[in-house]
Amino acid sequence: MVQGSTHETPEALIPFEVEVRAWLAEAMQDGLRFAWSAVWTTRDNDEEYAFRQSLGRRLGERGWLFPTYPVEYGGGGLTPEHQAIIETEMSRYGLRHAMVFYTLARIVAPCILKHGTDEQRRAFLPGLVRGEVVVWQVLTEPQSGSDVANVRTMAIRDGDEYVLDGQKIMVGSHHQPDYLWTLVNTDPAGKRHENLSWMYVPATSPGLTIRPMSMMMGIKNTVFFDGCRVPAANLVGGENSGWKVSSTHLELEHGGAGSIAGDPVVDHVLGRCLEQQPDGTALIDEEPVRAILADMLIETHINELLAARNYWLRLRRTPHPYGGVQYRYYERLLRLRNAERVQQLFGYEALVPRFDLHEDADLEHLVRAGPGQLHGGGTMDTDRLVMARRMGIGRSTKEDAPTTA
Ligand SMILES: Cc1cc2nc3c(=O)[nH]c(=O)nc-3n(C[C@H](O)[C@H](O)[C@H](O)COP(=O)(O)OP(=O)(O)OC[C@H]3O[C@@H](n4cnc5c(N)ncnc54)[C@H](O)[C@@H]3O)c2cc1C
Repeated sequence: MVQGSTHETPEALIPFEVEVRAWLAEAMQDGLRFAWSAVWTTRDNDEEYAFRQSLGRRLGERGWLFPTYPVEYGGGGLTPEHQAIIETEMSRYGLRHAMVFYTLARIVAPCILKHGTDEQRRAFLPGLVRGEVVVWQVLTEPQSGSDVANVRTMAIRDGDEYVLDGQKIMVGSHHQPDYLWTLVNTDPAGKRHENLSWMYVPATSPGLTIRPMSMMMGIKNTVFFDGCRVPAANLVGGENSGWKVSSTHLELEHGGAGSIAGDPVVDHVLGRCLEQQPDGTALIDEEPVRAILADMLIETHINELLAARNYWLRLRRTPHPYGGVQYRYYERLLRLRNAERVQQLFGYEALVPRFDLHEDADLEHLVRAGPGQLHGGGTMDTDRLVMARRMGIGRSTKEDAPTTA
């Protein structure tokens, strides 16, 4: 069982567990050196990317990327318990199921399932759900970061198409997407929150330009829409109803999805501290090292419990009012603290990249990406704001947490 997981396999599901374990042992044979959690990466490693992508597609073929999704949309038609087994077995390899390769399908597919028409589900879901297409989430604009609703990218209807003009920033990764999932303004004269729509935009659309930005934590991108034409059928959730769709999207992004995976960095750090040095000693022999490790393990365990709680509540469709951002907030701080701890433990070694390891286990990347963790997918301030609204602090009403799909 994964640390922090409340999952135990019921007897009737043991044959499935055995099947998944055997399948993964074979599938991971050539990728053991990448046996660390795949996250939404900004670090360039083409070999690893190719392995992850092929693993994602193989899982997708079996319906194991989205196990509980209907078979007609490429899912497995299985239960949350089956999903928990798949995720638990994958995390034995340090793999986070929802991020097996670098696509944000884990956020986009639920939005399409919940808010799309039947036709849109049939058209867009199978590629996402089987891991065949890569999608980025494209929200942030130069003047619209924390204030997500302040969208200036215009999408004006022209016959059967929308014409997009505007700019997004700090999105995606170093590998090209097939689709962008983006929030646009479809009513320039409309009221705030009532003027937005979500669109599923093919990355090959004429008038769309992607320009890489080299940042401290790696590659992000600027996207320019310049008279970019998108079929009207790609608008999901209804024109000017985009804020409603974003409630699903943002809840998942802000921790509502939860997780039952462990944190491979902690295993890696612990392993390094236990390793015997040439002089016969190990780092763990030193009392200050043990104190740092103890703090790291305690806080990581708390984080895993928050993540597991959200995971089960999501699968049961009974979201915790503020559990999503509570977990996200704690996790951001934990990653920053762990980055500091790694520097205290390994000194200069934590400043030298190790490209033979996945970025999650590469201590230099952990240290460099630490501060960025406070700012990706909203900031600590937006976490606090959402939490206050959900708890009813400073106002007479409490906002509900949206259910996701
Ligand atoms: C690692 C990383 C990955 C990212 N990936 C993506 C991606 O894939 N897709 C995407 O669309 N975007 C992405 N972003 C962008 C990210 O979502 C934004 O940076 C974030 O939402 C903050 O917006 P901003 O940078 O414009 O800062 P601003 O909104 O300008 O905020 C600046 C500062 O003011 C504070 N602040 C703002 N408003 C308030 C308020 N009302 N009350 C109190 N304090 C406030 C903020 O907390 C922050 O400290 C990523 C960013 C990072 C760092």
